[in-house]
Amino acid sequence: MNPFVAVWDFVRLVWHRRYHSKKRIRSYQLRQIKKLFAHATTHSPFYRQLYQGHVIHSWDDVHNLPTIDKQTMMEHFSDLNTVGLNKDDVISYAVQKERDKDFYGYYQDQYVIGLSSGTSGNKGIYITPKAMTKRLPAVFLARSGLPLSALPYRILFLLRVFSQGFDDINAPLVSLKYLSTMEPLDEIVTAINDNRINILMAPPSLLRQLITKADEITVSLKRIVTYAEVLYPDDKQRFESVFATKVIEIYQASEGQIASACKEGHLHINEDLVYIELFDEEGNRIDTPHVKGHRMVLTNLVNVAQPLIRYEMNDMIVLDEPCPCGSKFRRIEHVLGRHDDLLYFMDQNGQTRYIFPDLFVRWIIVSSEAIREFQVRQRTVGSVEITIDMMGEDERIIPTLTSKIKQELQAFDIIESELEIVLAPIKLPVDKNKFKRFINEIDKQ
Ligand SMILES: [Zn+2]
Repeated sequence: MNPFVAVWDFVRLVWHRRYHSKKRIRSYQLRQIKKLFAHATTHSPFYRQLYQGHVIHSWDDVHNLPTIDKQTMMEHFSDLNTVGLNKDDVISYAVQKERDKDFYGYYQDQYVIGLSSGTSGNKGIYITPKAMTKRLPAVFLARSGLPLSALPYRILFLLRVFSQGFDDINAPLVSLKYLSTMEPLDEIVTAINDNRINILMAPPSLLRQLITKADEITVSLKRIVTYAEVLYPDDKQRFESVFATKVIEIYQASEGQIASACKEGHLHINEDLVYIELFDEEGNRIDTPHVKGHRMVLTNLVNVAQPLIRYEMNDMIVLDEPCPCGSKFRRIEHVLGRHDDLLYFMDQNGQTRYIFPDLFVRWIIVSSEAIREFQVRQRTVGSVEITIDMMGEDERIIPTLTSKIKQELQAFDIIESELEIVLAPIKLPVDKNKFKRFINEIDKQ
């Protein structure tokens, strides 16, 4: 369930590398990839076959390795992992666990099994060895970007799913309490006040629910840390103003711990845990700030049980200038969302145009302060259905939002679009799935 715990452990062990020179970081990464390559080709029949004729001496050799995607990874799961796990056995174990809502225990007493639901229903399975799942809290603090001025830390961690390694902690400088995001909002507010919480960790979707209760929070928060979902800039601003504190994020995926915040509150790629390659729309490698990355390829530098080497991710990010904090790890300006979250329209010339999800988020959020949550569903190019969850029903939002979106789309030469906007309460998922703001059901055949 919890690659999150595992990688944090590694974060703590190696976190000092962020102040190394770029050159040292790159040579460390190349060394790790060489080791990973050797391990994978020795212990994984899948990689032995895939990498026939390949050797790794230089970065060019790395970049010449074929990429794999989630579908390939799952198809070859049994041959790809290096610890002899069988796909069908692992899947039935994980599915049974999920059915029982039992998120504890280790597979074969050795592994935490993570099951991610994919966009088109294709599940991904991720293995984390038990030894790596133990030391979350210390590790979290090591690279959390939390200010020392907030000590002692009294943390409330709102978890979507309970998992191995999560126990309440009561130490002199750190107390940590866990609650499920499924708890009623009143209970969450009570827990914040009664425990005099100063650091709140929660997914953005939960924070949006909590906005309605913000004035019932009587303690002063020193930081909010988001995780598990994209934190859009407009949400970030809104949280900072409503909860009167800085908001930082952890950017993680089942495939790896991609980035975490520095003391300035900026996201940096965890170059010691993952090697991230970015490509623009034309497929050119991106090494400079402010270019939209349409394709991300990830190599997990620390997971040898299930090597993910040059693995195609669905995420889109933009790099930023070097950070004043001094870290040489590449800084992320902006997480644009997932490639699946792009919205498609026809422009005046009959060309298909896409709109980035972060723009859509902005257009919707700025149209009313009273929007608590929304969900956008697209079934055909040129039309979207938007469900809006308002604090207080106000139907006037429908014409306001319709004209706002139409007007914004014109800047992209998109004159015709069908917008269906409905007001309805939106519930967060009650299973372990993430809340998705964008649901793309366009048949791409
Ligand atoms: Zn920084």
